[in-house]
Amino acid sequence: MEKTESNILRLVRPNIRALPAYEPIEPAEVLAERQGIAPERVVKLDANENPYGPSPRVQEALGAYEGYHRYGDPEQRALRAALGEYAGVTAEHIVAGHGGDELIDLVLRAVVALGDGVIDCPPTFGMYGFSTGVAGGRPIVVPRREDFSLDLDGVRSAAAEAKVLFLASPNNPTGNLLQRAELDAVLATGILVVVDEAYSEFAGESYAGLVPERENLVVLRTFSKWAGLAGLRAGYGIMAPALAAVLMQMKPPYTPNIAAEVAMLASLEDRVRLQEAVKAIVEERERMSRMLDALGFIKPYLSAANFLLCRIAGWSGQALRDRLAEQGIFVRYFDTPLLRDCVRISVGKPKDTDRLIEALSAIGDTRAS
Ligand code: PMP
Repeated sequence: MEKTESNILRLVRPNIRALPAYEPIEPAEVLAERQGIAPERVVKLDANENPYGPSPRVQEALGAYEGYHRYGDPEQRALRAALGEYAGVTAEHIVAGHGGDELIDLVLRAVVALGDGVIDCPPTFGMYGFSTGVAGGRPIVVPRREDFSLDLDGVRSAAAEAKVLFLASPNNPTGNLLQRAELDAVLATGILVVVDEAYSEFAGESYAGLVPERENLVVLRTFSKWAGLAGLRAGYGIMAPALAAVLMQMKPPYTPNIAAEVAMLASLEDRVRLQEAVKAIVEERERMSRMLDALGFIKPYLSAANFLLCRIAGWSGQALRDRLAEQGIFVRYFDTPLLRDCVRISVGKPKDTDRLIEALSAIGDTRAS
């Protein structure tokens, strides 16, 4: 008898069967167990999470909310109004969803038909390529230059056969910002330009205000990083009202769920306090950068986000990642040609930086001897 598995897989769309798996981050408990260390020893610097967590008002609001047995508002009225006020646009420009990830998926499924071109500029966030595959789009890869700036000529010529371009600003994992002149140049191609501002609160700048005057610009934002809500899945997109209406029509009606909505509203009310944590993280980034630099074998790139991409002399990124993991310190390694001798280190609390530097100093000594 033929195996059930192969039979059933015949029904799966070819583009889904061909998908390479997205490599998500493992939870701290799993990492701790794998390394045989106590969970409280884990220093988790691999997912650009906020070490200070959410606003205390989020816990209060979630505990006090009494309507969990009802569906939320499919029009997201209160949420879109609050997010619009925060982003400086009117509510009709906003679509909220389960994290930036849901918005990436929605935009692609709204626009891309089987085989349509989607431009990806690596090194960058892996979900653009992944969700392009899910949507059945054709990835057009235009690698960044050695300094991680855009290959503008490459993007412009690729635009002739593409519908969408994804650019993160600050870019993950490189930390650099998209320049205004670059944005103007890619918008002039007329294709849909999605600027992913997942880390914009750390950079203190945003292109959201341009959306009302540029119909082919979409800006994506999240509460995962600055507001510490990664586990709740809370994000939104800012786009032309006509496109927002399409996304609202096609998306499952009750995302983001009520918990994410309550948490987003409470975070916005407490934004002044959350900004203090953002400021602490930015200051810690600069301290960590100086300390890494002083080790001599690690070169951190300039970053406008809550992480540092670091080039390592004399080690592969993978080997360094593994050595740190043995000590319970988790950083991110990317198995791609452009980043083989790099790791990305998220900014934690000062005590996390101290543990990291101590471990790296010891590793540097073994290297020298
Ligand atoms: N965009 C970028 C550039 C990211 O780095 C991330 C998270 N790593 C996301 C979007 C997704 O964020 P969310 O948690 O809101 O899905």
